[in-house]
Amino acid sequence: MPVADTLYQLQQRDQRSDALRKRQRDIHTALAEPASVLNARTTAAEAQRALGALQTTLRDAELERQTLDTKIKSEEKRLYGGKVTNVKEMTGIEHEIESLKRRLSKLDDGMLETMFEIEQGQATQATATAKLAQIERRWEAHVAGLHEQLVAVEAELASLTTEISDLRGDISATDLAIYDRLRDSKHGRAVARIVMSRCEGCQVTLPNIDIARARQPSPLAYCSQCGRILLAG
Ligand SMILES: [Zn+2]
Repeated sequence: MPVADTLYQLQQRDQRSDALRKRQRDIHTALAEPASVLNARTTAAEAQRALGALQTTLRDAELERQTLDTKIKSEEKRLYGGKVTNVKEMTGIEHEIESLKRRLSKLDDGMLETMFEIEQGQATQATATAKLAQIERRWEAHVAGLHEQLVAVEAELASLTTEISDLRGDISATDLAIYDRLRDSKHGRAVARIVMSRCEGCQVTLPNIDIARARQPSPLAYCSQCGRILLAG
């Protein structure tokens, strides 16, 4: 096979390989978790934390309530137990009981308020969790699709790498050096086919002498306009 043909086959694989590597990079970029998932996760965690804090507040209040209740009962027992007969002392106990009951009443109001806030907090948390689950499901499906694409891209790249290596093994070091240099300077396109007497690389109409040279199996012929290796159709 003329060298230009082999180089053209190599170029096709190199171009495909470049495109696949770009796709591979794009997939890796697209696999980074987006802000929407991170935000939903933060919102759900914050709702859970706020609810937990309210539940702790309620539990603390319940404990305080029990303590106050026990204290009131014990003071009442003292007051009505018959052991205290001193009026001043009895008045003191009555005041203490009143003060404890005021604290209890205030505590009850606070607990009602907290219970109401817990109900709201539970609703907020449920909404945030459901939204997070929905966003995560959608994201996971997207990720699964990307992984599938990545596997296909990597499999094709692996087989292309073998083909490229095999083709390069068939080409002389001198021709490969020319090809590689042109590929670098001509945006990945070192070899141009001749289509309707035109160089496919720069579209110039080629002189007959260039076309005749390209038809010879060797040496390599070049477009006098753009310098690419010519491949006779
Ligand atoms: Zn050209």
